[in-house]
Amino acid sequence: MITIDPRSVLVVWAALNILFAGMLALVGMQARNVKGVRQWAIADLLIGIALAIASQITYPSTTLMAGSAAIFLGLGLGLIYNGIEAFEGRRCRYWIPLLLAVTIIANNYIFGILFFESKIRILVNFLLFAIIHGMCVRALFIRIEQPLRTAYWLAAASTGIIFLLAVARIISVALTPASETGMFTATGVNPLVFLFGSLAQMSMSFAFMLMINYTLAHQLNTLATTDALTGLFNRRSLETHANRQLSHSKRTGESLAVMMIDVDHFKHINDQFGHQAGDEVLRKIAALMQSIVRGNDYLARYGGEEFCVLLPATNEAQAYVLGERLRRLYAELMIPWQHHTLTGTISIGIASNDNHAHNLDSLIAAADLALYRAKNRGRNQVACYSECESAAKLKQIQ
Ligand code: GH3
Ligand code: MG
Ligand code: MG
Repeated sequence: MITIDPRSVLVVWAALNILFAGMLALVGMQARNVKGVRQWAIADLLIGIALAIASQITYPSTTLMAGSAAIFLGLGLGLIYNGIEAFEGRRCRYWIPLLLAVTIIANNYIFGILFFESKIRILVNFLLFAIIHGMCVRALFIRIEQPLRTAYWLAAASTGIIFLLAVARIISVALTPASETGMFTATGVNPLVFLFGSLAQMSMSFAFMLMINYTLAHQLNTLATTDALTGLFNRRSLETHANRQLSHSKRTGESLAVMMIDVDHFKHINDQFGHQAGDEVLRKIAALMQSIVRGNDYLARYGGEEFCVLLPATNEAQAYVLGERLRRLYAELMIPWQHHTLTGTISIGIASNDNHAHNLDSLIAAADLALYRAKNRGRNQVACYSECESAAKLKQIQ
């Protein structure tokens, strides 16, 4: 049988918390745009200090020792909750750690020093631990997209274990005679509470680290695949996605249509109203496109004022209907800009992989040729590659 000494567990637990605090601080230096890291790092440091002091306490303890351990622990546990609030983009309610610290101090002062009611003191302490950990579980056990969900649920499960251990300790202390209860008794559930509590708290810190890591990876991926001005995908991610779509349509025999959209006389807007007005027009076109395409259509900003839409399971004729709708809606769109109203038109070229192009380059070349024709016919038009006289010519070039 292994005997577990709660005080020894506390010393190791304290050291691990301080170690984690240092690691979180280092991670935080690089992850400046992930919120909550600072709170978690400070929380781990405070909890580490509290546990180190607590491991040395003997009862009746000195006011200074019990008081400082209580302050550090209350603030630390409250800050863990604040870290979750910050991570989720909410405002931190810093009165929570303050209230927790004050309540723990009051409890330890009244029942640890004034009256020395060990049982009540432990019951109230663990009730407070259960409440704050319960609040953390509630904040973590939420609907969220993968892979963040795995990290969130690991944190929620670890925090949930601490909550259950606190409840177990409350029940066990309530059922034990006052003379046999003590903070560090090596009997009943106490050693297990300390052992599994420390493991669960470490696993919680790991999960926070994972949450930061996944968020950073997600942010980097978004930066690499989206266009900052319009929020649409960029050309690079269009290429990756299009190749995947092309192999899918080759397997299934479904058509894949491509729509190239170019703003007519866009240079005039820039020249007349300034570059920022041009940017606003690009944002409005992107929003208009997003409002009319289907969920699995893929919108990208291809270049300056050119956009590209990939339409899976769509042939040229169907894409033409969508293109016409987009052209008409944009021609009717009034864009307020300072004291002016900006209006304009777009030209659209359409091609599909049905009868000509079978790789992305030739598909885009075909849609570009159709776009060129739409421009030549006077702009504010939709043209399809298959109706182009030069179709045969393009085939020869390929
Ligand atoms: P066309 O009808 O033949 O398409 O004429 P156009 O003026 O639209 O075409 P052109 O290619 O001559 O001009 C495109 C302009 O788009 C030139 C460039 O300064 C502008 N542009 C490219 N990227 C951006 C951007 O991000 N913001 C703004 N405001 N303008 C941009
Ligand atoms: Mg252009
Ligand atoms: Mg243009």
